[in-house]
Amino acid sequence: MSCIFCKIRDGEIPSYKIYEDDKVLAFLDITQATKGHTLIIPKRHVKNVFDLPEDVAADLFRRIPKIANALKNTFNPIGLNIINNNDKPLQSVFHYHVHLVPRYEKDEMVISFPNHMKDYDEKDYQALVNQVKINI
Ligand code: AMP
Ligand code: ZN
Repeated sequence: MSCIFCKIRDGEIPSYKIYEDDKVLAFLDITQATKGHTLIIPKRHVKNVFDLPEDVAADLFRRIPKIANALKNTFNPIGLNIINNNDKPLQSVFHYHVHLVPRYEKDEMVISFPNHMKDYDEKDYQALVNQVKINI
């Protein structure tokens, strides 16, 4: 298995682990986009959200408030973003992971949501809902 996060899980390559139990592992992201930038992964190898079993998701997400609060109480950020990249354009490690990114004044992080409201009317929104519902 050539997965870098499986190797971190197994201790085959070093990492800065901040939390571990039987289901998940949390460790510092090597880039430290902001101070305390942390990744939390399921111990089970899953490529990304499209393959994520509900029990693995539940086990991972129920731990997130604990880790988020530890980061908040340790570094006193003004806020915190939770980010997860799946496939293109941003996923670079194909073992599911969630980024916890504490935010600080003038921290140079850029997250931008374009606003396309002007392109949608009531019918357009309803058409989107109808399309997705077919696939749930
Ligand atoms: P993503 O682009 O969402 O797939 O995020 C992958 C993240 O893994 C990046 O932010 C990398 O900095 C981080 N990363 C890659 N290798 C390591 C490593 N050995 N230890 C800690 N973080 C890593
Ligand atoms: Zn893996």
